[in-house]
Amino acid sequence: MYSYVAKQLDEVRQSIPRDVALVAVSKFHPIEALQEAYNAGQRRFGESRVQELLLKYPQMPDDVEWHFIGHLQTNKVRQIIGKVSLIESVDSYRLLNLIDKESLRAGVTTRVLLQLHVAQEDTKFGFSVEEVEELFATRRHQSLEATQICGLMGMASNTDDEARITADFAAISSCYNRLKNDPSLGLAGFDTLSMGMSDDRFIAISQGSNMVRVGTAIFGAREY
Ligand SMILES: *Cc1c(COP(=O)(O)O)cnc(C)c1O
Repeated sequence: MYSYVAKQLDEVRQSIPRDVALVAVSKFHPIEALQEAYNAGQRRFGESRVQELLLKYPQMPDDVEWHFIGHLQTNKVRQIIGKVSLIESVDSYRLLNLIDKESLRAGVTTRVLLQLHVAQEDTKFGFSVEEVEELFATRRHQSLEATQICGLMGMASNTDDEARITADFAAISSCYNRLKNDPSLGLAGFDTLSMGMSDDRFIAISQGSNMVRVGTAIFGAREY
């Protein structure tokens, strides 16, 4: 059966280049919707709330790659370590250290992205460009024992102004490239730039994104 989700997924896949990874953002959607996407070949799913991830996790096959993309409270870190293949939304040094500690304790290595905040809204979480560059310049990443920083994630300002969105993504992208291309940092496996959602994914890809997080364009509108 060719479901609504399978059809939308197909269209989204065809709309992005092959070398751009697609995260299907399934937050607030029922397990049936995830299963339809899974049956259509999707393996990478993004969730933004710990409780919801923990409910869905046992209901989906083992080869699903779960990405955590929401603000992660420090008291919930332990619950998702070992279950998620990438935490995209590491927004503070304190959270990064805690993930490392809990991963070490659980005997796993956790892959993460650092979330950059460049958008105009004050409410969004994340490191500033200066903070992230300072984290690496002071070599704090080298003391991590069970965490691999695989790249950066970021969102553009919530606006229709395409110039503003382009500038936001360009700022994240240039920070990513500076870090990646600085041999003194020795960042092995630093290869993921997660930018772009349903509405701004094409601009994000034009600015160098190689991972997009798409919810609405695949699953339809969310009912909160
Ligand atoms: C919800 C969410 C998305 C998906 O947004 P859509 O507009 O539905 O594609 C992407 N990234 C993050 C961090 C989100 O919270």
